[in-house]
Amino acid sequence: MRVEGQDDGTPRLAREVADTAQRVVTGGVFYLLGWIVVSVASDLNAQHLVSTYGVGLAFIALALMRVWPRPPAPGATRRALEAWLDRKWTVVLSTAALWGTVLSWILVDPHFAPGRSAALLCTIAFATAFAHNYCLRRERALLGVALIYLPAPFLLPYTDEGLAVSATVGAYSIYLAIVLLRSYREYQQQLDLYDALRHQRDQYERLSRIDPLTGLANRRFFGGALEHLVGESRRHGRPLSMLVMDLDHFKRVNDELGHDAGDACLARFGDRMREVFTASGAHLARLGGEEFGVLLPGLGAGAAAELAEAMRASLVERSLQLREGPLALTVSIGVAGFDPGDGQDGSELYRAADRAMYRAKGEGRNRVRVGGA
Ligand code: GH3
Ligand code: MG
Ligand code: MG
Repeated sequence: MRVEGQDDGTPRLAREVADTAQRVVTGGVFYLLGWIVVSVASDLNAQHLVSTYGVGLAFIALALMRVWPRPPAPGATRRALEAWLDRKWTVVLSTAALWGTVLSWILVDPHFAPGRSAALLCTIAFATAFAHNYCLRRERALLGVALIYLPAPFLLPYTDEGLAVSATVGAYSIYLAIVLLRSYREYQQQLDLYDALRHQRDQYERLSRIDPLTGLANRRFFGGALEHLVGESRRHGRPLSMLVMDLDHFKRVNDELGHDAGDACLARFGDRMREVFTASGAHLARLGGEEFGVLLPGLGAGAAAELAEAMRASLVERSLQLREGPLALTVSIGVAGFDPGDGQDGSELYRAADRAMYRAKGEGRNRVRVGGA
């Protein structure tokens, strides 16, 4: 049986990567547009030709680095996801730092006076968008907003923009911080909800294939495995055997010790199956009531019968331990081997093993019988 993997937070991280990938793509273009608007308004290429194009090219490069490389493929390790996130954050924070530097330049250099209002509007827009968009990581987002925005309230008082503009811009930084922290909390709640839904879905999925009493596969899942293995066996000519096991006089256990003890007995029988059938690829299932099935890919009927005998003998030699004490219990087992060359299907293999089990019952119980498919 497949063992459930421990949730180490990788699915949550993968979700953050997917969200980041979606949010990171478009933003870079707006910084470039902002820079073009400000430099045209200030007629900048007349005075600072090299810097104008240099900054523009830097924004273009950073915008492209948002798109490539694409996020790691599904199933990537935690390390690969973290590494991708770190790279994207470096690009996003570098863009923020570049805009902050450009803004400082715009505020201190009188050549920019005609483009200053546009620069301030862009700064407010970029910082607001950043606070909303990159709330996925609190500290990094705070740093990004600070890099974009803080030159404004600190440098405006030294320009001729006036006290009112400086005060408004300063007060707006408080709003930015509040928005960012609130968006961060909301995003974390969204991830929590995503975790809870995923956990619930995994549980339902598990319940749909596992028998809760024994932890073995249920009949439905076993049926699917049988069809799959029969197909494999046909394709590759690999041997395949099936066991049907039915506890002997199990009704007496219920009658004498009660239904709860009967349940405990079924659970202990499932444990014993796991001890005995350790062959790789073995499928163990509770088929219903006190009937169990085993699929043994790679084993012919002879080898499967040996394992069946080991299971039968194990019960005789070592009683199942219940709370009420040791319980002497026996099992009748039918074994059948699949013959890939004979045009048989899974249900015929099942019926052959079932018939062999009934023969074991008929011949006195507590025995193994082998039947052909
Ligand atoms: P045989 O050797 O012919 O198989 O006799 P048996 O008593 O094992 O077979 P029978 O089919 O007469 O009875 C099976 C019993 O298994 C009857 C039912 O109460 C019990 N049983 C089925 N499912 C459960 C379960 O989930 N828990 C418990 N405690 N008992 C169950
Ligand atoms: Mg029985
Ligand atoms: Mg039965």
